[in-house]
Amino acid sequence: MDFNITVIGAGVVGLAIGANLSKTTNKVAVLEKNNKFGQETSSRNSEVIHSGIYYQHNSLKSVLCVRGQKLLYDYCDNNNIKYNKCGKYIVATNTDEAKKIIEIFENAKKNGVKHGRIIEQKELNKLEPNIKAVKAIFFPQTGIVDSYSLMKNLETEILNNRADIAYNSEVVEINKITDGYKITVKEGGGVFSFTSKILINATGLFADKISEMVGLKKPEHKLYFCKGEYFAVRNGKQKLLKSLVYPVPNKNISLGIHSTIDISGNLKLGPNAIYVDKHSLNYRVNKSNLTSFYEATKRFLPFIEKKDLFPDQAGIRPQLSKTNGKINDFIITNEEKYGYKNFINLIGIESPGLTSCLTIAEYVRHIIINN
Ligand SMILES: Cc1cc2nc3c(=O)[nH]c(=O)nc-3n(C[C@H](O)[C@H](O)[C@H](O)COP(=O)(O)OP(=O)(O)OC[C@H]3O[C@@H](n4cnc5c(N)ncnc54)[C@H](O)[C@@H]3O)c2cc1C
Repeated sequence: MDFNITVIGAGVVGLAIGANLSKTTNKVAVLEKNNKFGQETSSRNSEVIHSGIYYQHNSLKSVLCVRGQKLLYDYCDNNNIKYNKCGKYIVATNTDEAKKIIEIFENAKKNGVKHGRIIEQKELNKLEPNIKAVKAIFFPQTGIVDSYSLMKNLETEILNNRADIAYNSEVVEINKITDGYKITVKEGGGVFSFTSKILINATGLFADKISEMVGLKKPEHKLYFCKGEYFAVRNGKQKLLKSLVYPVPNKNISLGIHSTIDISGNLKLGPNAIYVDKHSLNYRVNKSNLTSFYEATKRFLPFIEKKDLFPDQAGIRPQLSKTNGKINDFIITNEEKYGYKNFINLIGIESPGLTSCLTIAEYVRHIIINN
């Protein structure tokens, strides 16, 4: 075999897996079709270090996010990666929503989210006078991370561990062979093949495609592209909030348009959730959605006016279903039972994939060791 382990995809998840496994295994390769790491979903998100509040108890999302948050803060401290532990409010604007935030609070506690606390209106007015709400929950551990520096650091770790990262290398064919996989890559003008004992699919939006390339045709792996746009808040209003502010989620496909603060302290609203065509990665922000952003947030952030909003960035979530209100879990599995031993498949790695990148890597290591 040419390699012991090949990871396809150099987003934050593929990089975290590569860095973790190359600590103890030689001949590890990471392949990326773009000319640098993190050009897709990993650089087009809110950069929130989530706490694990909403996910179903004991789901992979909940377990990997709660531990992932701690590991990520420790990793940032140890590697001088910037973060801002700014905290997050979920705000209720009426008595019905106030009941719902208690349910969310209970779910968070069940998931092991510590330090959350209920804030009554009077206290909220003092802490964040620009939020309009009757009640809130505050999660002080939620924060923002500099995702570029995180990925850069993981890339450096991989290289320091003497593993390989090949950019401009698109996997175009995969064949199962005895004890491993033959992987064919398009690089520059040419095509070449090599073999690997273990193959890890961390290709984000294209994970279902890679899974099919291996030979697995599972309808439950089909991914839907759900675009999320952001609008920047300007005109001097960007400094009017200290923390992230989320509404109570309704039966929607996302957490609801909320306010986020980036690592430079700029305020944004987003993301929304719009299903888009699978064949184009169109990251343009549709200006005509500005009004819906304003309408969605004016209840709890009344200081933001339409004229303060400017189109910003967009990202695309790889979602396992279009079901309203349902939160799909991550799929992270060794496909041995389907005849593909040592093919580790990661599908539907949407939020909180950034927060969970280090624990996803631990989990993949665990799958490999226990095989
Ligand atoms: C709008 C939005 C907001 C989000 N907010 C948050 C947040 O605040 N906090 C949080 O924790 N998570 C958040 N997420 C989720 C998070 O961004 C993702 O879970 C995470 O970035 C997934 O990383 P990845 O490495 O799996 O995927 P990607 O970053 O998409 O990386 C996959 C890589 O595989 C490569 N690839 C694909 N096909 C091939 C091929 N054939 N050959 C070689 N390479 C290939 C791609 O080029 C890409 O670089 C958000 C996502 C979106 C869309």
